[in-house]
Amino acid sequence: MKKIHLFICLLLASTLAAQTSQEAKLPEFQLQKYEVESALRFLASDDLQGRRTGSEGNNIAARFLASQLEALGYQKAPGLDSYYQSIPFQKVNPPEAAALSIDGQALTFKEDFVVLGGAATNFEDAKAVFANYGWVDEATGQDDYKGLKVKGKVVFVLSGLPGEFNPQATFKAMKLKRKIATENGALALVEIYKLPFPWKFFTSYFGKSSLQVADANEEGVSTGIPYIWMKEPNETMLEPITKGKKAKIGINNNGFATEAISSQNVIGILEGSDPELKDEYVLLSAHYDHVGTGKDGGGAFTAEDSIFNGARDNAMGVVALMSAAQSFAQLRPKRSVIILAVTGEELGLLGSSYYASHPLVPLDKTIFNLNSDGAGYNDTSLIVVMGYGRTGIDNLLHQGIESFGKELVADPAPEQNLFDRSDNVSFAAKGVPALCFSPGFKTFDEVMMSRYHQVSDDADSLDFDYLLKFCQSFAFTARLIANNPQKPIWVEGDKYEAAGKALYGDK
Ligand SMILES: [Zn+2]
Repeated sequence: MKKIHLFICLLLASTLAAQTSQEAKLPEFQLQKYEVESALRFLASDDLQGRRTGSEGNNIAARFLASQLEALGYQKAPGLDSYYQSIPFQKVNPPEAAALSIDGQALTFKEDFVVLGGAATNFEDAKAVFANYGWVDEATGQDDYKGLKVKGKVVFVLSGLPGEFNPQATFKAMKLKRKIATENGALALVEIYKLPFPWKFFTSYFGKSSLQVADANEEGVSTGIPYIWMKEPNETMLEPITKGKKAKIGINNNGFATEAISSQNVIGILEGSDPELKDEYVLLSAHYDHVGTGKDGGGAFTAEDSIFNGARDNAMGVVALMSAAQSFAQLRPKRSVIILAVTGEELGLLGSSYYASHPLVPLDKTIFNLNSDGAGYNDTSLIVVMGYGRTGIDNLLHQGIESFGKELVADPAPEQNLFDRSDNVSFAAKGVPALCFSPGFKTFDEVMMSRYHQVSDDADSLDFDYLLKFCQSFAFTARLIANNPQKPIWVEGDKYEAAGKALYGDK
């Protein structure tokens, strides 16, 4: 090595060392294991009963987080008089009895058909009309209602979307199909089940009570026209409907019962230290709800252990979020920070999508969402970043993670579609560049499955040294993003690029 090069190397090494020792003074580098361990043990304790949305344990967790934000000196979000953004949740209980008949032939409730929505109704001899998939799409020119007289009739359609039979597409289409039928004046909508998964799976999924957010602008489950799915009946029964012959349809349904449920997002704001950059906000998020106990948990349980503690999913993410909150309170970053602990994730990203459509700081001032969530881990040398390579901040991610001796892994299980399965997608869909910080794994193997949504996802099985590094990395990465002169941006061609442009314009 030539002398001049050696000199430059020494110079570089000394600036790097200086940087590192400065970094080492940052509060996230000072975070203690007992701090993260005690918070995690509390959130994942049996006393909190699996933190199911709206349960007492869920609300106690919320109080714990709000108390921390208050003690750390966070401000309440504009328009709120507490650290709670309450959400108008409703528990919707399906009808206990219902009847459906085609030309006098009665079908058996729950065996042959299920009621998925609609107000109480009772009619005996309505006319039927068949409308293919019941789908209208201007882009493709498909209009299954074209030329049909639908007003006051029961509309029968095929389930799913033409040519697209995966569960996601099917579920997504449901709301829209019902809306289209309503707009066409239908008396009721009946979908004929022809999907490539078992009918029983479907009925057990939809036969239960569910949680929804009451929205004045949208048809709820308990209102509107009856919406029914029926098991594919024999040809003779269907013939009069599909062939357009006269058929008398009877529907009797005693309606859905609703009850208000109390749960909320927890939110606090810390103003940035830079006079200009403080008008931009970095949104840090993690969901604090989990699935609850017993049958609600969805996995196996016993009399001795029926609590789904959710230590990994997602007490870990919440503790990382609160570690960042603590660290920023000690030394403010340049941009302002929103700490958002969301509820309702396990029931369909309900809390984050509520915030995304009712933001307390304008979304176009929210420059990034760093979310933390995960199913678990099987490799403590790694930290996983869902959304790596997509928002132009990969150098910050490497620095944030490698500073704590961990290796960054980009989404190791793309087939699981994990980016679009956590709260970050609620913000990404609105255009906010987002990613999800998750505990380390290379494959979604049996070690992962043995904890994921199981009663064994408890605090005693956690590696707290790893938890500490995970929290430190999360907080440091968040700081790097909040201090970085450049704003993150969706890379060209990303599926959320257009949403980003629509949100921020040329800003
Ligand atoms: Zn989960």
